[in-house]
Amino acid sequence: MTIVSIGFGRDLNGRMVAVNDLVPEKHRGLKCNCTCPECGRKLRAHLGEKTTWYFQHYADNTNCNPQPMTLLHAFVRDQLALRKALEIPPIAIPREFLVGRRRVIQSITIPRQVHTSLKGAVEVRGDGVQPDVLYESAIWGRLALEVRYSHEVDEEKRQRLQNNYELAVEFDVSDLPPSGIGRDQLETVLTDPGRWTWLVNDRGIEFGVNKAQTLLDWGEKNWSVPASYKEIHPAAWAPKKLMEAQSRLVWAKAALQQLKLLRRERAASWLGAQSKTDRVAVACAAMGIEPMVLPSFMLLGGGEGSIPWTLDGHPYSWQPIVFMKFCIGQEEINAAEAGQWCVTALAGLCEDEDGRKSRNGLTRTAAMLQRYFLQLEVLGLVERTRGALPEERSFRPRFASPNELRSYIAQHQPPAKRRRTPFAPDFAFLARYDRTLRNSA
Ligand SMILES: [Zn+2]
Repeated sequence: MTIVSIGFGRDLNGRMVAVNDLVPEKHRGLKCNCTCPECGRKLRAHLGEKTTWYFQHYADNTNCNPQPMTLLHAFVRDQLALRKALEIPPIAIPREFLVGRRRVIQSITIPRQVHTSLKGAVEVRGDGVQPDVLYESAIWGRLALEVRYSHEVDEEKRQRLQNNYELAVEFDVSDLPPSGIGRDQLETVLTDPGRWTWLVNDRGIEFGVNKAQTLLDWGEKNWSVPASYKEIHPAAWAPKKLMEAQSRLVWAKAALQQLKLLRRERAASWLGAQSKTDRVAVACAAMGIEPMVLPSFMLLGGGEGSIPWTLDGHPYSWQPIVFMKFCIGQEEINAAEAGQWCVTALAGLCEDEDGRKSRNGLTRTAAMLQRYFLQLEVLGLVERTRGALPEERSFRPRFASPNELRSYIAQHQPPAKRRRTPFAPDFAFLARYDRTLRNSA
């Protein structure tokens, strides 16, 4: 007689249990209190030190031989249904795009989704479809999950899922060892993006397609700033983050001494490895100003002409660093070079920069910086050196040293006012420029 070894049993609550999750001292033999998921008869747990653990029917001659993959599927399904939280990793799917006149196949990425406060149920019947697990999520609506262990979901079933649920996703366990997976291993395989496939996610796919199209189209056109770039608006204030940066100023001053010893490229990657607020602290330390009273021209709002998918953060997180690096000193300011530096030094904010250049030679990051430099030109904080077209201009810093910058700030930001509102930027400074512009128009 062959011994049938089984990887999973059912506990007293009817829940699937992996033999690998048992504890030898507590669960050896019949103490496992498990029954066969197929025939319901008692199981004995073999938890030896030398051999792989397995369940075995207690009775002889049961004539029962459960399919290992069926049991694995049921185990994974039950475990997933118990979860209150589920993280679906970013998933890439290929799509076809029209770029100019060319057809291009490119992967789009559907961003990571984190579902919390979930209520999961096993095999709830919908209209013509019965997903392995159905979650109710307060924010996302209903999420159907299919555990794949043989065939992938076909188009007909996918359509039925689409008709029933806001979201549907497939999780592939077909290559897992049927006998040897427990709860811990399941946690690990859940983080593997290759196991996940979106079956229904209209909003996520639309988002991914729009983003990819924007990136692809960038190379097809001449970038130009709208005339309205001359309107200057302050960004929403970010007091919490700037207070965080303020609290790091002592550290930043020490770090700056070390940073000055590093070569140019090393210094950029060092900055790139810091947190957003630490970078601001370092930039402020270098300029000798305080993050809490950051001048408003390092906090300029987006508005028309700002470019999506680059410098993807609040202006506080990049403008002080850019100003520190390029807008003080003697060197000519060139957006293309600045753009390259930012990809390294502002890592995380330029993640979607793919290096694609517009027909007039600017990456999206460079264009975004050019727009910022043009605004600084309007404010009289950098001077034009050449280029009639705004897109092609180069600039020269107005301030030769941090000292000059500080005395300029002191003149334009009355100390009395600063004392009264220590955490607010000098909006009055920008308002003055708005008025000047309106009068001159
Ligand atoms: Zn059985």
